[in-house]
Order: sequence, then structure tokens, then C-alpha cells
Amino acid sequence: MTVSALFQEAYTGLKSLVIGLGITGKAFCQPGVTVIYPKEEVDNLSTFRGHVELIGKDEDPAVPRCVACGACVKACPSNCLTILCPVPAKEGEEGGPVVMGPAPQKGSKTPGAVIVDFSLCSLCGQCAKACPVDSLQFSDNPYMVRLDRREFQIDLLARLRRLAEQD
Ligand code: SF4
Ligand code: SF4
Repeated sequence: MTVSALFQEAYTGLKSLVIGLGITGKAFCQPGVTVIYPKEEVDNLSTFRGHVELIGKDEDPAVPRCVACGACVKACPSNCLTILCPVPAKEGEEGGPVVMGPAPQKGSKTPGAVIVDFSLCSLCGQCAKACPVDSLQFSDNPYMVRLDRREFQIDLLARLRRLAEQD
């Protein structure tokens, strides 16, 4: 390699270093866009898509609008929703412990259990879109850390009741 080629290579390397440091320095002086959790928390979650959650009735927020039609279960491409309703006793059967079956169940207008497996959810929104009574929305629950994927099975009915009690 000639001396002039060596100088040329050194110049190109130095120039690229200065440009890179300039970009780094500029970013370093700008205000941060991330927060260090748990010291700080994000204050604007209006556009955040957390796991889906049930919406309560205006007159009773602890009771979901859900009419247990099963449309969301059918629409979910990831099979992460389970809606169970009481199965009506057949004629002549004794009334025993309540048996639950997948929604919809004839005559049942309220769900007995609504579970979402958040470990499978792709946050596509198809369930909320399919709901005829607007009973599903994305939650603003960003801080979900679990050690076991089974803990991502969220009981949405219990969550709705808990939130309604807090309000
Ligand atoms: S957001 Fe999509 S993947 Fe998640 S529960 Fe709803 S339909 Fe299923
Ligand atoms: S689509 Fe809506 S009303 Fe039907 S089961 Fe799902 S949440 Fe309930």
C-alpha cells in the first residue's frame, strides 16, 4: 500500500469516527424518551395496547356489557379467549352444582367466566371488533411481569369487579 493510500484510509476512518461521535453527542443531549421502571412510570398510556379487558355497564361498572354470545372467541385467530356460561339443566335432571360450558349457551345472557391467555394474544383487536355490544377494549396495563406463562391467564370478570370496587 502506498503512503498516499494509507493517508486516504486514515482520513476516511477519522471522518467516519467524527460523524459517528457527532450523532451520539446530539442524541446524548436530547431529552430521554424512555423511563427507568420502577423509579418512573410512563404517564401517557392513551395509545397503549395492553391485554383486552371487559367494559362494564354504565349503570353498574362491576357487571360486564357482555351478553355471552361467543363472537369474540370465534373471531380470535389465536384461540386465547375462553367464555363459559352456566349450562341449563335438562328436563328431569336434579339441580346440582352449576355446570359451565363454552359460550354461547341457550338462554344465557351473562358470562360465568371470561379468561384471556395473554401469552397467546397478538393484540390484533379482532375480538373487540366482533363484539356486538362493545364489551371489549385494550387495557392500559403495561407492567406485566410473570415468571410462569400460566400466570398470563387473566380472569377478566374478576378484574372488572376489582377495578369497579377501586373506583
Ligand atoms: S386481540 Fe386478537 S389475539 Fe388477542 S384476544 Fe383479541 S382476537 Fe385474540
Ligand atoms: S363478543 Fe362481546 S358480548 Fe359476545 S361473548 Fe365476546 S365480549 Fe361477550
